[in-house]
Amino acid sequence: MTGPQATGDRVPIDAGTDPDTAAEVVRAWVAEHVPAAWRAAARRGGPAAVREVRSRAEYEAWYPVFAASGLVVPTWPVAYGGLDATPAVARRIEAELRPYNLGRLNPLGLNLAAPALFAHGTEEQRRRYLPPIVRNEEVWCQLFSEPGAGSDLASLACRAERDGDGWVLTGQKVWTTWAHIADFGVCLARTDPDVPKRKGITYFLVDMHAPGVTVRPLRHITGEVDFNEVFLDGVRVPDSCRVGGVGEGWKVAGATLSGERQMVAGSGSGGVDRIGGSSAGRLLELARRGRRLDPVTRHRLVALWSEERIREWTNMRVRAGLRAGRPPGPESSIGKVHQGELNQRIQLLATDLLGAGALAWEVPEGGGQGPEAYAAALPYEVKGMLRSRANTIEGGTTEVNKNVVGERVLGLPREPDPYRDVPWREVPRS
Ligand SMILES: Cc1cc2nc3c(=O)[nH]c(=O)nc-3n(C[C@H](O)[C@H](O)[C@H](O)COP(=O)(O)OP(=O)(O)OC[C@H]3O[C@@H](n4cnc5c(N)ncnc54)[C@H](O)[C@@H]3O)c2cc1C
Repeated sequence: MTGPQATGDRVPIDAGTDPDTAAEVVRAWVAEHVPAAWRAAARRGGPAAVREVRSRAEYEAWYPVFAASGLVVPTWPVAYGGLDATPAVARRIEAELRPYNLGRLNPLGLNLAAPALFAHGTEEQRRRYLPPIVRNEEVWCQLFSEPGAGSDLASLACRAERDGDGWVLTGQKVWTTWAHIADFGVCLARTDPDVPKRKGITYFLVDMHAPGVTVRPLRHITGEVDFNEVFLDGVRVPDSCRVGGVGEGWKVAGATLSGERQMVAGSGSGGVDRIGGSSAGRLLELARRGRRLDPVTRHRLVALWSEERIREWTNMRVRAGLRAGRPPGPESSIGKVHQGELNQRIQLLATDLLGAGALAWEVPEGGGQGPEAYAAALPYEVKGMLRSRANTIEGGTTEVNKNVVGERVLGLPREPDPYRDVPWREVPRS
């Protein structure tokens, strides 16, 4: 693809469109707007083949066409970049687009910031922040975890103090994915240390380019930089960037955390996709290539394929609940626990199927030296396997999500927390 694209218009789909008509509209839109080389690849080999012919830069350059169509978030209101489409129409749109591998950019904006804005933001905030999220013009990150507050997030210490018509934030965040490329972050800060930990927290939208924000990259085991430490040193945040009431940030955070669990569980961003358009299909191809269709491998393949279907069905339940207007519940924790462990097993099988290719690889000539060169040359499957180790930690650890399932699904007694009702200031911290 060369040269800039005309962004085009919103597709003619709205709340009154039926699924068959919507499918026709999408097919016509694909024929007109999706580059011919991607369409040819999709016909040849589906989403995985599209990825092979398309660079990330090309996709980003083309993305405004997708965003302008409204097809990125079909069920969202038109004013925020969607089409107001019904859930049934959204499902048809998704099915029509699937072969072309048109992933949604800005997943943290779409899946973490947007749910909080929908559930607790003002109309002004939604109109200001949601459309640029859809267009991928403003990238978002999540400033929640701190060195002393991960699983026990409510014990966070970053503080926000009133200052005229705004707030001043001071503290440290850590593991902040994409802070180094983000324009905004959703941030939890303590506004009242004299009440129990969950009660004194407020939710803010922080401009990552504001004075006082320092981002220090951290490197993954794959050699890549994805997450960061973030230092907030007297960062001024206007009161118009507060979401929800003062001291009600824990409730607002719930919308972000559920969105995150769903995203990591695959209903938002598709973690399993990391080894190909369809993980079972990709594994099969690897097994055939290496002549590894022995009984043990077959058994592992079928077991993983079956589990992937279960994952899909769990995600469908979550999505159906959301469309029916129910907030994401403990199903997203079930999906998150299952997806994290399943993806690790899938990635491990992919690496096993590579055989010796997973043990050693060459950095191509001129590929440079050091972690960047190592990261760039890692076989796709090995990178996926290493990255998947984080799946049982990010978005809430497996152990913590099992606690949620135990309490809210099985009705087990609540996990004891001696500091639950103690003012945050009096809770011992290391
Ligand atoms: C790849 C990656 C990306 C991330 N991106 C972000 C981001 O963008 N923004 C952000 O804010 N955070 C991010 N995180 C941080 C993530 O949310 C935390 O790592 C996670 O919540 C766990 O917190 P912790 O690392 O402090 O571990 P800890 O909370 O210290 O946990 C240590 C161990 O103790 C176990 N444990 C803790 N409490 C309990 C309990 N009550 N019951 C049973 N077991 C328990 C845990 O399961 C874990 O095994 C990211 C993490 C990873 C790995």
